[in-house]
This record gives sequence, C-alpha cells and structure tokens, in this order.
Amino acid sequence: MPGEVEFDRVARVVKLRPSKQLEAVKPGDRLLARVRDVQDKIAVLEALAKIDGTPLKYPRTGVVIARRGENLDNVVGVGDYAIVEVSSIYYGLITFDLYGHALGCIASLCSRCGSILEKRGNMLECGKCGSRERRKLALKYGSLNQFIEEMVRVLEGKDSG
Ligand SMILES: [Zn+2]
Repeated sequence: MPGEVEFDRVARVVKLRPSKQLEAVKPGDRLLARVRDVQDKIAVLEALAKIDGTPLKYPRTGVVIARRGENLDNVVGVGDYAIVEVSSIYYGLITFDLYGHALGCIASLCSRCGSILEKRGNMLECGKCGSRERRKLALKYGSLNQFIEEMVRVLEGKDSG
C-alpha cells in the first residue's frame, strides 16, 4: 500500500498519509458545498467544487458549528448548496465558516417537498407547497441556479459513470 507513514508527536499517533496528492485546501479558501446533515449545533457539509465551478477531485467533508445561542435549523437545510470558507483544518477535520458576508446558501431545498426555494424578502418560499423557511443566505442566492444545475449534472454523471 503506497503511502507515507508519519508520527504525530503532539497527538502521539501514527498516521498513514496517502501518497495520492490531494488538492490543497487551506484556510480562507471558498468552496461550494452541499449540506449532508443538520443538527442543532453542528452541520456536516461536503465541499464539491471550487468557487469557479471546477469540481474537486476528492470531495472534502467538514463541519459548520453554530454560533453561540443559535440553532442551525434557521441557517442551513439538508440538500442545500452553500458557499463556505475554510476557517480551520485541525488534524484533517475541516471547519467551514458560513456566516461571512458573501457566504451562505445559494440554492436551498424545501424541507417538505424538495423543490428549490425562492427568495422573498428575508425569507425563502416554496413555489410548490408554500412552505416558508429561513436560511443564512449568500448575496448571490438564486442567481446561480443555472450554475448549480450544471454542476449537479456533472456530479451525478460522475456517480453513474
Ligand atoms: Zn415545498
């Protein structure tokens, strides 16, 4: 099994670092991510592409931590696409920021019927079932639908191929 063994003196563990070169992801990078799971205080997102639309060769999973006193239910929803910024990487655990000015959801799915929600003032509304939901919205919410659709097509094509 090719790889590089390294001993981490601080954590006192031996790790096998894959020799396959992962694209560098570093704090400050902005990525397009899909929300996989949402709990009260933590959400799991999978970064799929760079902000210019180039898919990452290896999707990166990371977490968003709720701000003090906040519940993530009003910030992201499962299936949403969001622009996130890598805020830290600690022993391979990536933490994403979602609260910055240009960050947040760019396409959110209705939690009832799965349709893409439309922006109405500060809220999102489902054109199909009328559900009204709240999210942390990116400045460009809704303006990237075509981009998203294209990306979803590429990603789903990759799965079936
Ligand atoms: Zn709906």
